[in-house]
Amino acid sequence: MAHDGHHHHDEDEGSELSPIALRVKALESLLTEKGYIDPKALDVLIETYETKIGPRNGARVVAKAWTDEAFADWLKRDATAAIASVGYEGRQGEHMVALFNTPETHNMVVCTLCSCYPWPVLGLPPVWYKSMPYRSRVVIEPREVLKEFGIALAEDKDVRVWDSTAELRYLVIPERPAGTEGLTEEQLAELVTRDSMIGTGFAKTPQ
Ligand code: FE
Repeated sequence: MAHDGHHHHDEDEGSELSPIALRVKALESLLTEKGYIDPKALDVLIETYETKIGPRNGARVVAKAWTDEAFADWLKRDATAAIASVGYEGRQGEHMVALFNTPETHNMVVCTLCSCYPWPVLGLPPVWYKSMPYRSRVVIEPREVLKEFGIALAEDKDVRVWDSTAELRYLVIPERPAGTEGLTEEQLAELVTRDSMIGTGFAKTPQ
């Protein structure tokens, strides 16, 4: 599948900086030098988009899928439209596919060529998602990689690894945890972690 023409400008192989990354660094240095920004504040901002603000969108989609059967069906048939109906659409999320975890099947997402990631629902990709070890190993030994994330899968559970591309971005719908029958959609969304929507984690159980 083609990974061309979408974001190679901001992808790095190894430690060499791309032209865009260099420009951003130069801009950051200049603004810091002039006293306009604090680099530590920038780090906090980026961290917030990686772990808090970004993935909250996806968490709301998952919680809605858990509580609304018609919405879950729509997600299975046309994830792009179903997700857009909740208000999340845009660049790097034009063609979404929802992967439903079940007692029989666990889904994981990777981009083996670069770092394609569903921005509108998950925000910025975590550093490990873009790392060479994750990208190469998850395809060969997904169970080993999962163990390193603290996830032990039952032996008889199938693991499917999905390779993202410029055309397709995946959102894993984790299994709904036991003991969550009485929770509201909002409370359920709190249980949905970023990693559970990439397939490197499970949704949290209440308390
Ligand atoms: Fe990619």
